[in-house]
Amino acid sequence: MKQLISTQFRSIHSKNTTFPKTFDKILIANRGEITRRVIRTAKKMGIKTVAVYSDADMHSMFVKEADEAYRIGPAPTKDSYLRMDTILEVIKASGAQAVHPGYGFLSENSKFQKLLFDNKVKFLGPPTRAIEAMGDKIESKKLARDANVSTVPGFLGEVNGDAEILKISNQIGYPVMIKASAGGGGKGMRIAFNDKEALEGFKISRDEAISSFGDGRIFIEKYIQEPKHIEYQILGDEHGNYVYMPERECSVQRRNQKVIEEAPSSFLDQATRDKMGKQAIDLARACGYQSTGTVEFLIDKNKDFYFLEMNTRLQVEHPITEEITGVDLVEQQILIGAGYPLAFKQSDVKIHGHAVEYRVYAEDPARKFLPSIGFLTKYKEPTAHEDIRIDTGVQEGSEISMYYDPMISKLIAWGKDRKTACDLLQKAMDEYVIRGVVNNLGFGQSILRNVDFYEGHYTTAFIPKWYPNGFKGDPITTDDIEHLALSSHFLHNHIKNFDLLQGQDAPKQDDVVFVVMKQGDDHKDYRIERFSCGKYEVTELATGKKTQINAGNFDFEYGSLIRFDQNGKRQLVQFDHIKDDVNFHFSVKGNEVEIAVLNPKQYAVNKYMAPPKKIDYSKSVISPMPGAIIAIAVEVGQTVTEGQELFTIEAMKMQNLIKSQVEGKIKKIHVRPGVSVSVDQLLIEFE
Ligand code: ADP
Ligand code: ADP
Ligand code: MG
Repeated sequence: MKQLISTQFRSIHSKNTTFPKTFDKILIANRGEITRRVIRTAKKMGIKTVAVYSDADMHSMFVKEADEAYRIGPAPTKDSYLRMDTILEVIKASGAQAVHPGYGFLSENSKFQKLLFDNKVKFLGPPTRAIEAMGDKIESKKLARDANVSTVPGFLGEVNGDAEILKISNQIGYPVMIKASAGGGGKGMRIAFNDKEALEGFKISRDEAISSFGDGRIFIEKYIQEPKHIEYQILGDEHGNYVYMPERECSVQRRNQKVIEEAPSSFLDQATRDKMGKQAIDLARACGYQSTGTVEFLIDKNKDFYFLEMNTRLQVEHPITEEITGVDLVEQQILIGAGYPLAFKQSDVKIHGHAVEYRVYAEDPARKFLPSIGFLTKYKEPTAHEDIRIDTGVQEGSEISMYYDPMISKLIAWGKDRKTACDLLQKAMDEYVIRGVVNNLGFGQSILRNVDFYEGHYTTAFIPKWYPNGFKGDPITTDDIEHLALSSHFLHNHIKNFDLLQGQDAPKQDDVVFVVMKQGDDHKDYRIERFSCGKYEVTELATGKKTQINAGNFDFEYGSLIRFDQNGKRQLVQFDHIKDDVNFHFSVKGNEVEIAVLNPKQYAVNKYMAPPKKIDYSKSVISPMPGAIIAIAVEVGQTVTEGQELFTIEAMKMQNLIKSQVEGKIKKIHVRPGVSVSVDQLLIEFE
């Protein structure tokens, strides 16, 4: 497998130097991708690493890569990764002198920081005061206001009870954003356009906040329409030195959670960049910040910007900053933690090129981005390229479980400019093979092909604007069809060859095949003839349109890719699986395309076969995701209207309301609260 980080950081700051006065051993209180990321830097610095893991992670890569690894409990986070007492025992047993908290879990927990402090263990993050002030959205906004940092207009206090929710929402004026003060990762946050949504949003945000953060305090602020999300990575040491890194833009979001991040932003001019960076430092100084942290802003079309929150930890998207500045941020955290002053000044920080990151998630863009779980039956990263970096915690065979964040990897591309980086990212996505869980790679390619995105004209409303009904695949073009036709022809004969190798009767290669491409209820039929000297003729049967193609050098990677030369250019097609000798399953631009390849005799018979029967989903409700039923809002015999709330399902710590798509009288409810359901499981039948 490729290295965790394939790209060399592009700078002087991260040469393999050992720092004598750092630590001998650090413990990483996290899992997956970020733990591997920290191990990599620690090894470079000559520091030994200690991993902790839950039962679900026993066979994970980070457990094998750490110098030592300790089991800390069963899969649920509250019994393992959130168990400060158990982690402290491991710290003592292993003799680790410092703890890297990663992100999520205990990374912004001041009690954890204090516990470490009391036990004379260094927390590689900010001091208690900074975590407490900044980890809380209400407190941080108050502090920001006092430090003359511009904040989102709203009510800087906890709101409680229906009457107060409505009063404050109306005072601020709709639309408003209802937020959990302890929130993070897009959880515990809802927009409301009216009173009804405000009440509903309050209830669901509070429940989510209690279950995710154990803190149900809610506040309300103005909803800024179509802003861009711009954030500043800052660094501060024990000696009062601060620098800010060039900004990251993270406006492409779903569920208020980032999917694509890039650095720098193409929207900022130098004056705004400096102004925002300076405010970020003012805020950091005001709370006595140390280590790495991120100050997040929203900026509107008039370049008015508002402080949103500060994340007192390393962020998921930190690699893009590393790629354009050459600074290894984890190394900086370790050095700052060991008491070193920052080795560079603001004027040393320069922007080198452009970096874009796509978060590859196990989630279904066609089903409101709901998480998918399962085993990675096939996992193949794009071919190594010096400007591609992949940070991941998984490999082929790993499980994406319902217990943790469904992120599979972070795919990062660097280029001398934005377009070069985006083109490279697109190419890498094209080659990236992930099977076994539904994922968002097809969706990512669609975003990168979008003109607005490509030109840099986009806001946080990008996904709702371009994909109001989710993403169901981009249109398949004539080029795609040609690629599919050629690949199918090749695959058909390749399988025959394979039979031959198995010692079966030598089958004759077919020069003429018929390809039936099925997509939903539609099908298109093609005749493909191969001539000697690598010429193919593709005939669309409905129109009689013929295309001549030169193709050759077919290269087959089992279970994943077919590459070939077409009219002198290397092409690539991903196929999902081979059902049998005749039926193949391809994925193209986020579409699933089923293809039957038939020889002339089979095709003649096939034409008279009836299409398969379809299941009627209009009289039932099926689960859109795997998870646990938390509540059922209806009962048998009740008549429900379209849009009425039916269930609350919890998956990966997110609560989701399942609403009825139809009107009808409930005949049977197939589940009860507390049970786990799988995707597509029947929940309700209507009469
Ligand atoms: P924010 O949107 O607040 O900036 P990020 O997008 O940086 O947050 O993601 C941090 C969140 O992502 C965490 O709060 C956590 O829920 C989740 N997360 C992502 N990866 C991991 C991981 N490996 N371990 C734990 N939590 C993770
Ligand atoms: P989290 O801690 O979950 O990251 P943030 O406060 O950083 O929460 O908000 C995450 C995202 O939600 C923002 O990047 C933005 O897209 C959206 N958002 C948050 N607050 C507002 C607001 N007041 N107006 C418009 N969008 C907002
Ligand atoms: Mg945020």
